[in-house]
Amino acid sequence: MITVLKNDTTVEQRESLCKWFEDMGLSTYVSEGEYHTIIGLIGDTSKIDIGLLESLSIIESVKRISEPFKKANRKFHVEPSVIDVSGAKIGGGNLMIIAGPCSVETEEQILTIAQSVKNSGATVLRGGAFKPRTSPYDFQGLHAEGIDLLLKAKQQTGLPIISEIMNINDLDLFEGVDIVQVGARNMQNFDLLKELGHTGKVVLLKRGLANTLKELLMSAEYIMAGGNENIILCERGIRTFETYTRNTLDLSAIPALHELTHLPVVVDPSHATGVSRFVEAMALAGVAAGADGIMIEVHNDPEHALCDGAQSVTPDQFSRIASKIKKVHEEVTV
Ligand code: PEP
Ligand code: MN
Repeated sequence: MITVLKNDTTVEQRESLCKWFEDMGLSTYVSEGEYHTIIGLIGDTSKIDIGLLESLSIIESVKRISEPFKKANRKFHVEPSVIDVSGAKIGGGNLMIIAGPCSVETEEQILTIAQSVKNSGATVLRGGAFKPRTSPYDFQGLHAEGIDLLLKAKQQTGLPIISEIMNINDLDLFEGVDIVQVGARNMQNFDLLKELGHTGKVVLLKRGLANTLKELLMSAEYIMAGGNENIILCERGIRTFETYTRNTLDLSAIPALHELTHLPVVVDPSHATGVSRFVEAMALAGVAAGADGIMIEVHNDPEHALCDGAQSVTPDQFSRIASKIKKVHEEVTV
């Protein structure tokens, strides 16, 4: 349920209303927008007398929220959320460009790529250290050593870093990692989501291979229910009957998510297509459709990459894509 307060409501009046709700066993969630302040209520609201509430002088309106996701709901928080990752912002008109290899392989590889993507305008460096591979015989990532190398690249370039976590027991290793990625395969690993909800980490939550937008939002809600509201959603393509591309990029997920939630949305054209020559078109389409960020896999030697070489663009290609992305973003945000 949400209650919209009248513009002239004082802080004291708001606080005493919140206390009244909390005394009924409800959690309150205050969102101060440019025009209205909204109090979101979570819990069993059936005992609230809506007529009585509406009659209070400070109440503009009262609405029941039928969707099962509350904290992620745009009705709870009308303004888009802006997340600041060590100076790199995303949401509300701020574009985040995430670039880097699928996996951290060697010191030279990650440092070279980090410097070149930074020069081309990337705002966050990516690199997997724990890789969720379909085959147990494939390269699984450098684990702690991979995180150390990413930290070195962060120190050299000043770029914030993102890396995927698969097991909550590894959380200590992610202390210096600015964004923790939950991969598509773990989108419904509820224990992992709950644990991340108890941290202050920014989480990039990828949509599962065969999950609906509502399921994605319920997974975000798991993290938010624990108190962590720093969530970035990521559309990375879904399974369809088409096999020419690795997945099918669901572009309509972007405006649909913006309607349903205040959380920022990133598009990953690399995993969505699986084909490096299609990455530029889908990155530009993602930004044109309103994405708040783009995540692109970049490798200095794609042919010899240990993971996802076929979808990785070279640093030169990335440079061209990044400058086009910025132009499209300027056009669509006016
Ligand atoms: C990745 O980002 O390298 C990755 C494994 O992504 P996804 O979970 O979307 O497959
Ligand atoms: Mn990858």
